[in-house]
Amino acid sequence: MHELSNIRAMALLPILEYPNPRLRIKAQPMTPADFTPELQQLIDSMFETMYTAPGIGLAATQVDFHKRLLVIDVSKDREEQLVFINPEILSKEGVGTLEEGCLSVPGVFDEIARAAKIRVRAQDRHGNVFERDCDDILAVCVQHEMDHLEGKLFVDYLSDLKRERIRKKLDKDRKEKAAKKPAAAATQAL
Ligand SMILES: [Zn+2]
Repeated sequence: MHELSNIRAMALLPILEYPNPRLRIKAQPMTPADFTPELQQLIDSMFETMYTAPGIGLAATQVDFHKRLLVIDVSKDREEQLVFINPEILSKEGVGTLEEGCLSVPGVFDEIARAAKIRVRAQDRHGNVFERDCDDILAVCVQHEMDHLEGKLFVDYLSDLKRERIRKKLDKDRKEKAAKKPAAAATQAL
């Protein structure tokens, strides 16, 4: 696990991949003492890691930092950085189904049903509390990333059979990658 004090010099952070057991660790709340210059550095590194991957959301859990922190940018131009610290869902409305992917489950996409609209309360990168209504892809993304903080992955919503197939596929992809054969790249992962 990364400690904030070690993270200063990092830019791109390694992303944990399924079935790494560290993805199952439940993230701890961020406290006022966590809002340090090192946290700002970590958030910038998480955005850089997410944009490079490329993805539209990243939970701290995925970079082996087990505190309640998410970064998201669902904008086309990749210039609307959203930070959610200690996020809580205040209300949910409706159900929508969207095809999801995940940077921790590369190359795998499947349809998952989630609340279509949510109202979230969280802190921004400076600790200021805000509330925001989210719908469409942003609602999906926040719910997907909040699951990561609970140690939950989108493949957990799929059948055991599908999950076993995915585990085998990723195992095969990793072996091929190790043998320097090109693997299929994800287009939009969360
Ligand atoms: Zn994910």
